[in-house]
Amino acid sequence: MEFLVDKYADKLRRAGLCENPVVGGLDDVLVWNRGADPAWTARLTPVFGRMNISGLVFGCPAEPFATILEFLAAEYPDGFAPKDTETRTFLHELPVIHEFTPKAVADVLGRRKSVIIATPSVMGIAAHGSVTPEQGFVTFSSVCFSSFVLFFSEYLRHVRAGTVSPARRTAFEAAVAHLEPMVEQGPELACGPFADREAALQAMVEAGRATVEYRLVDSYFGNISCLLNQELLISQTGSSLDELPGLIDFCPLDGSSTACLTASSELTAHSQVYAKAGGRAILHGHPRFTVILSMDCAERGQNVTCEIGKLDLCHVKCPAKRYLSGEDGGVPIVPGEVGTGPNGLANTLPAAMTGRGAAAVWGHGLFTLGNTDFNQPFQALLDIENGCRRRYFATVDAAEGRR
Ligand SMILES: [Zn+2]
Repeated sequence: MEFLVDKYADKLRRAGLCENPVVGGLDDVLVWNRGADPAWTARLTPVFGRMNISGLVFGCPAEPFATILEFLAAEYPDGFAPKDTETRTFLHELPVIHEFTPKAVADVLGRRKSVIIATPSVMGIAAHGSVTPEQGFVTFSSVCFSSFVLFFSEYLRHVRAGTVSPARRTAFEAAVAHLEPMVEQGPELACGPFADREAALQAMVEAGRATVEYRLVDSYFGNISCLLNQELLISQTGSSLDELPGLIDFCPLDGSSTACLTASSELTAHSQVYAKAGGRAILHGHPRFTVILSMDCAERGQNVTCEIGKLDLCHVKCPAKRYLSGEDGGVPIVPGEVGTGPNGLANTLPAAMTGRGAAAVWGHGLFTLGNTDFNQPFQALLDIENGCRRRYFATVDAAEGRR
């Protein structure tokens, strides 16, 4: 357990989510990560007594997340529920409390995966894990992701409507000042075609790790696959893209094996993309500005006129032909639930990937396709996200300049 609490504290730091995380794990005894602030551990230890959990993660988020959460906690004192897929499928809602007591924390964590703690002296996130601290780490990073997406999405909507409050503007300017500089060039990854399984596996491990390092996905989400002869190699559901060794399945394309039960929930989507669009390598991440623009629709917002929008079903069956660049010929945006149902990614994604080799899924993320290895899909992931970030700020500037 000592190893695990240190590992996840370290991952939070490396992901730029929290500088001084506190990670607790309970076996026979309760252990905290090295360097955990004793003032926090004293306050959090009683939470274990109130809940049946084995892991607890707490931390004051790093910038820009601290600024973003402080604003959202004031704007939505009882909590909020962003529309992105990580929230919909995983967090459901992000509750907020305004007192930092073991009872208040345990009460919320008894029904939700996370709690945002906003008091005059503390701005923190707490999350629990029932078996190990890993779940707490995943939740912590998802809270940061979803809050980021909500905050920047709402700013865009308000700036267009001319309804940005002074507090929102101040928070936006502070958050923007803390954004990391844009990285234009991806790493040099292994070149294909891959000679055998071993070479393909190594290339997947390397590309998965780079996708997390370049912050194009939260560690635990996203997936990756490649096609080798008549076999599809794909990351397992719930595997961390930066820790793939041992978590990649080999799935014969003729469906002759049942060994693929643990394969990504998007296995069918991947195999259909290869069948329809060609290619040999698929990378899927959740880059933030891509997700923000995928949900930016003129039909949404204050005066929803679209019937699907009114029902809040854009992520399932948006009927419009939409593109990340706003123009035909750009990267298409499709709806699609995880899975193979009528509105599933397996049905919406393959056609969209054909031609352009990339498609965004509404509120969810980006899929990119390569002909031989992961260099092309990785660079596409990076280029498309950078393009979305530029377009986001150009749209904000234009809307602000107009008024
Ligand atoms: Zn995803």
